[in-house]
Amino acid sequence: MPKHVLVVGAGIIGASIAWHLARAGCRVTVAGQPGGVATPASLSWINATWGNPEFYFHFRRRSMAGWRRLEAALPGIRVDWCGGLLWDLPEDDLRAFAEQHARWGYGIRLVDGAEARRLEPGLLERPRIAVHVAEEGAVEPVAAGQMLMSAAADEGAMLMADMRAASLIVEGERIAGISTASGERVEADETVLAAGTATADLLATAGIGLRVASPPGLIAHSTVAADRLLSGMVFSPDVHLRQTQEGRLIAGADFTGADPGEDPTGTARELFEVVKRSIAGAEALDLAFHTVGYRPTPADGFPAIGRMPSTAGLYVAVMHSGVTLAPLVGELAAREIARDERDPDLAPYDPGRAALS
Ligand SMILES: Cc1cc2nc3c(=O)[nH]c(=O)nc-3n(C[C@H](O)[C@H](O)[C@H](O)COP(=O)(O)OP(=O)(O)OC[C@H]3O[C@@H](n4cnc5c(N)ncnc54)[C@H](O)[C@@H]3O)c2cc1C
Repeated sequence: MPKHVLVVGAGIIGASIAWHLARAGCRVTVAGQPGGVATPASLSWINATWGNPEFYFHFRRRSMAGWRRLEAALPGIRVDWCGGLLWDLPEDDLRAFAEQHARWGYGIRLVDGAEARRLEPGLLERPRIAVHVAEEGAVEPVAAGQMLMSAAADEGAMLMADMRAASLIVEGERIAGISTASGERVEADETVLAAGTATADLLATAGIGLRVASPPGLIAHSTVAADRLLSGMVFSPDVHLRQTQEGRLIAGADFTGADPGEDPTGTARELFEVVKRSIAGAEALDLAFHTVGYRPTPADGFPAIGRMPSTAGLYVAVMHSGVTLAPLVGELAAREIARDERDPDLAPYDPGRAALS
């Protein structure tokens, strides 16, 4: 009998885990809103950087390679490997950042203002110096998640979009499944919580503590531009932005979004004025809408991926940078759930670690 796994969460993380599990031969049921909650509100930069310790840098980089494998396996998924141009640091820090990451094997290089202008001809402000990473990219995360879900369905997974977990079913030392909001019992050999910011509350129904913060991040979306205004991701001191595959400019005060403040609409308008001042052609666009997403962020900032200590039948996958990490997390979680093999690279991300209790 194949193992029955219930995945709670159909954002980019739940979708990736579901697809990898279905391919590994498990019987998979997925509960949750397709496309996710944090996922559609993301800037969706696929990268390995920004102040990360070396072990986390390598983990993220491994997932960047995972996106290339996903593209090959599921041709409907298309990552825009557009590169990232960044100068949102004082010059000395920028040089140190480039040196450190080049030493770690990242495809990073310092560029001068002329080269920055060549890479991004639409920039209205020319940096004196910047770093460029050609191997970075961005993905449309809702489309990618839906593609993963539909590929999971092709492998036999069942999506229950309207099913809402109200609590975990505890049987002794084991989690036996979920009770739904409509009072139904859904049992499984293993339950995966990939419910983003809702994960900690669901764990609490079984008396399990996991410290996860949910800081907000606002992203402003322009109307669709007829032309390509940007070649890649841009991270200036004033704004972090990219152009979507559909043609919208999407921007945050930084890559985690802007602080929405008391007046999110006003914040979005101000941010969009910065976009117009930064990119040639943006002045012809309007602010179409903004999103405020809540970033699922375990207390020490690192992902929580794995089984909870002293509780059988329960697997947790909650993290920021879930767009970057989705392919690798799906692959490694499925291997652990289906074959009981824990990848050594998951060691720092044990959800039972002291920092999260
Ligand atoms: C402003 C912003 C910028 C970001 N920028 C980046 C970036 O540049 N790069 C990057 O890699 N990451 C970025 N992130 C982070 C990334 O978006 C998240 O880490 C990722 O989307 C998390 O995906 P998820 O599937 O875990 O959660 P979600 O997308 O939140 O999905 C949660 C799922 O759980 C389901 N669910 C919740 N509760 C229940 C329940 N009780 N019963 C059933 N289902 C339930 C929901 O319906 C949904 O399907 C950003 C996030 C934000 C908000």
